[in-house]
Parts: sequence; structure tokens; C-alpha cells
Amino acid sequence: AVIVAGSVGALSEIWSELQRAAGATERLVELLQTIDDVQDPEAPRALPRPVRGEVQFDNVGFHYPTRPGQQALNGVTLTVAPGETVALVGPSGAGKSTIIQLLQRFYDPISGAIRIDGIDLRDMARADFRQAIALVPQDPVIFATSAMDNIRFGNMAASDAEVEAAARAAAAHDFLTALPEGYQTQLGERGVMLSGGQKQRVAIARAILRDAPILLLDEATSALDAESERAVQTAVEKLAHERTTLIVAHRLATVKQADRILVFEGGQIVATGTHDELVSAGGLYARLARLQFTEGMAAA
Ligand code: ATP
Repeated sequence: AVIVAGSVGALSEIWSELQRAAGATERLVELLQTIDDVQDPEAPRALPRPVRGEVQFDNVGFHYPTRPGQQALNGVTLTVAPGETVALVGPSGAGKSTIIQLLQRFYDPISGAIRIDGIDLRDMARADFRQAIALVPQDPVIFATSAMDNIRFGNMAASDAEVEAAARAAAAHDFLTALPEGYQTQLGERGVMLSGGQKQRVAIARAILRDAPILLLDEATSALDAESERAVQTAVEKLAHERTTLIVAHRLATVKQADRILVFEGGQIVATGTHDELVSAGGLYARLARLQFTEGMAAA
């Protein structure tokens, strides 16, 4: 099949959604409904280039279509400045992933508005603003093709040399060249299976090729081996540099690096600050920091 380069970003995002939905038929049905529900406007506004990458949630209220009684977000207001890195933390079900979903316009808010560079997502074509967004999902999809082409999904126009440069920056080059046929090794179901940390580095390499001004990263909850942990951390720091970055964070190293941490609870932002500020303030964050964040080796 021929894939048009411009649609690949959106396609891989839908793929990652499908993968998450797979195994739960209800979620798949719901996902398909979602794709149908959200419509591009008839006369879309173009997101002006170059994209600055300012992200704004303005008093956003939201519940999932299947759960009208359960408020997933309740009056969330936040602004992420161009180039800033924010970490989203909080207990399970607090609304962190919902922020990531809404920012890609998989759903529309029930109340309030979400804007990129001041423009409401509902006023733009999804393919337009999604080009400005790179997503590193928690459990990236690895396609049944070569390692080279798996990374190239980030940007179908990339040359082999560009793919390799992205893999180096994502700390994936060494393990890829160690595979039986290097970059030409078949991955996926009938090929070499990658570890969780390796999959993440492939996803980071894709995101590097994407070169989008806004980066959404859903950090893996599972502990990675120490080598992967450090490699992923370094790669993410490089990738986040000079991009607007929202990370659903589970690791202490990540939250310490963030410019700002947003603490979610029950669909609301209950505290914001740096790691040190929030720890000295006590409260939910201090408890989370003690109990919830993994510390690489220490937690593995
Ligand atoms: P976790 O750390 O477990 O991923 P989270 O902070 O990301 O949690 P969300 O996934 O945003 O939390 O969930 C917020 C609320 O929305 C929860 O009540 C959750 O059960 C609900 N929810 C999340 N996804 C869906 C969905 N696809 N359909 C219906 N309800 C959902």
C-alpha cells in the first residue's frame, strides 16, 4: 500500500490508539465512534507556521462519551509556554492521559477550550495541527518491517542517513547495529522482538525524525533495565529541548528535569511547582514522590 507522507503521523497515532484499544472490544468500538464524532470544520483555519507551540487548556471540562456520569477533567486551566517542559503527575485515573488525548483532538471538551498558538483545535483541520505534534506512546507500536523502516515512520521522506542519525540521538543505534542484520533486521511478530526500553527508543527516534514543535510523551510505567533507563532519559532530554513538551511522568529523573510539574487529582490540577517546591510543600506530591516514582535501578 502507498502511504502519503503527510498522513503518516496521524496514522501512527491512530495505530497507537488501536493498539491500546485492542484486547478490549468496547474500547475499540468507542474509539471508532470517537473518530466519527470529531469532525473537521468546513472552513478550517490554518495553524500559522512556524508553529510557536503554545498549548492552552482554558477551563476544560470533559467526560468520556461512554461515561457521562464520570467527570474526567473538571475546570482544567493550564498554559504551556513554547519550549517549556511540564510533567503531569498524579494517581491513576486523575486525568493525565485524558489531557494527552484531548490535545490530539480524539475528543472535544464538553466545556472550555483547548488551543495551540491561540487557535481553538475545533477551528483547525486535525491533519494540520497534528503535524505539529509528535507522540511517544507508553507502549509504542513496532511494525512487521525492518528496523530502518520502523523508525522512518516518523518521517517517510527521511534518508537512511537521517534515520541513523535519529537512532543515534535516541540511543538506539548500538542495539540496532547489534541485531543479526543491523538496521535491515525484521522486527515485530515474525522478526526480532524488542524490549520495552528498546521500543521506547525506536519511538523516540521516530519523534526526532518528526521534528515537531510539540512533544507528547506517555512515560512507561514499567521499570526499564538500568541501561535503557539512562539512555531513554538522555534521549528524552535532548528531544524535549526547545520543544513544548508534556510528559505523563512516572520517573523521578523526569520530574526533576521538568520546568514545572502539574499535580492532577480527580480531574483537577491540585498543585504546580518544581520538584523541590512541591516536596517541601508536603501534601499529595510529597506522598507520590515517596511511593510512586520509580528510580531506575533502585526500583527495578
Ligand atoms: P493512569 O495513570 O492510570 O493512566 P490517568 O491520570 O492518566 O491515569 P485518565 O486515563 O486520564 O487518568 O482517566 C481519567 C478518568 O477517565 C478516569 O476516571 C478513567 O477511568 C476515565 N477514562 C479514561 N479513559 C477512558 C475511556 N477511554 N473511556 C471511558 N473512561 C475513561
